[in-house]
Amino acid sequence: MGDPGGLEPHAVKPFAEIFLVVSMQFAGKVQADFVDVPGQIAPAVHDLAWTARIDNLAHDRYIVKLINRVVKFEIASILSGMKSFDYEVAILGGGSAGYAAARTAAGAGLKTAVIEGGAEVGGLCILRGCMPTKALLYAAEVMHLASHAQPWGIRAGKVGFNLARVMARKDMLIDDFAGYRRKQLARGRFQFIRAQARFLDPHAVQMSNGKVLTAKSFIICTGSVVAPTPLPQLSAAGYLTSDEALRLKRLPKSLIVLGGGPIACEFAQFFARFGVKVTLIQRGEHLLRDFDADAAIELERAFRREGIELYTNTILTDAKRQGRRKTVLFQHGKKAVSVSAEEIFFALGRRPNISPLDLDRAGVAAGNGWIATNELLQTSAPHIYAAGDCTGPHEIVHLAVQQGEIAAHNIARPKSPRRMDYRLFISIVFTEPQVALVGLTEKEARARGIPYQSASYPFNDHGKSLIMEATDGFVKLLADEKSGEILGGTCVGPAGGELIHEIVAAMAKRMSVRELAVMPHYHPTLAEIWTYPAEELAETITAR
Ligand SMILES: Cc1cc2nc3c(=O)[nH]c(=O)nc-3n(C[C@H](O)[C@H](O)[C@H](O)COP(=O)(O)OP(=O)(O)OC[C@H]3O[C@@H](n4cnc5c(N)ncnc54)[C@H](O)[C@@H]3O)c2cc1C
Repeated sequence: MGDPGGLEPHAVKPFAEIFLVVSMQFAGKVQADFVDVPGQIAPAVHDLAWTARIDNLAHDRYIVKLINRVVKFEIASILSGMKSFDYEVAILGGGSAGYAAARTAAGAGLKTAVIEGGAEVGGLCILRGCMPTKALLYAAEVMHLASHAQPWGIRAGKVGFNLARVMARKDMLIDDFAGYRRKQLARGRFQFIRAQARFLDPHAVQMSNGKVLTAKSFIICTGSVVAPTPLPQLSAAGYLTSDEALRLKRLPKSLIVLGGGPIACEFAQFFARFGVKVTLIQRGEHLLRDFDADAAIELERAFRREGIELYTNTILTDAKRQGRRKTVLFQHGKKAVSVSAEEIFFALGRRPNISPLDLDRAGVAAGNGWIATNELLQTSAPHIYAAGDCTGPHEIVHLAVQQGEIAAHNIARPKSPRRMDYRLFISIVFTEPQVALVGLTEKEARARGIPYQSASYPFNDHGKSLIMEATDGFVKLLADEKSGEILGGTCVGPAGGELIHEIVAAMAKRMSVRELAVMPHYHPTLAEIWTYPAEELAETITAR
């Protein structure tokens, strides 16, 4: 409907005015609540209708088509306040971010659709991420505890395992969680459509079931996929990703783990505790680059004690397969090193799952691979939002959920928008010792020039952890050097992933170290360890 050529001269102006407003509406440049839209186009519609009647434009089929499309449907629906789209919000992807967005949008009264194109319904967290990995890691922890029971005077005999049963328990839990998610999606609060979707234009998606769906707003929640390997030779050698590792029927005798992030560390310990000879190769100086080095060093020490061979500060150079052995070659400092094992586990990261979406047709820009959004979670096309792994900046499920909720809220309530805030950023690695942080680390505070005071306390000097023989690690607090407000916390140690939530709560309420130090803590608990660095900081900050 772009060319008003063929119109009688006096019809061109009203048509052009209508076309401009309608196309702006389509391009999302005019907000839904732009009250002047009917006011602006009503006179033009009137003029055009009058022109059409007077000049008998029905003879010109092109013009009739234009008038039918523009006047009868689009403008009529705008003028009457009715929506001209199938849905007010369509959400691409029904994982953690997508479900949270759908629940929020439907709860706010918006006509909502979720389009989910995966072979299975449930999303990464339930099917192949958080939940199955934690089920396996907990099994590894039980194994470890059972085979290290002597300090408590307990004879457990030779501890063995049945991998099929370990995996079956994990699968049973996952089926249960996924079944619950399927029910939530199909409860009827919103339309749940099983199809792959890609954009045709800023307000329409083509679905793999052959249908086209239009919506006034979209939220893209299509998640992430395993990143391609940086070394083509690795593909030739072959490797396991987390997806395959979760479905193994037999454990390899030896394994090279590539990467030093949470997924690499969790799988390395799982395999090692089930008797696999593990070598972990990490590019950076330490494992877990989001954490301070003191936290990573604790985990590195525990890994080495459990027999995991660790190489940090490396550059991968080559990989090959010889018969049933796979070899990885790398630079370690100045030395060229080669390590061979039965299998390779690839944990060098994931990338946003956006390439099949035809984002350019919707005017959505992806910077650095992730869909770029502002703090309202709007993309470069303001009526299209993004949430979860596809937009980053972290691949963490509670953030995906929060982003989904905020995006949907902002579509429903544009006049009272919510912003994404990472002040309470939490990261947890479910190894033993667990490694957890909230808010600022020391390296981030230094990089951002934020003045702080810090204090830590070790678990090897704490009553409850001594009882548990869980003496690896420490807790650390960072506080504002003037007000004493808690800026961050790190916990490496027993139940670190649980303990960190005390500091999350304290930071959410903007508590100071003084307030934390005097807050009652039951004795003997692991949690009371936080009072030691809090007291130390309260004293130093008061003394200044
Ligand atoms: C091994 C592993 C362990 C993890 N452990 C943790 C953990 O302990 N804690 C934690 O916080 N995070 C963890 N994560 C990360 C966490 O799982 C993700 O951050 C989270 O699941 C992302 O949710 P999402 O909704 O963005 O994406 P997903 O859950 O992946 O959902 C995306 C959905 O979009 C669908 N989709 C994709 N493209 C289309 C399309 N074109 N049309 C329609 N549908 C489409 C997919 O089928 C999928 O269902 C882990 C990840 C992995 C891999």
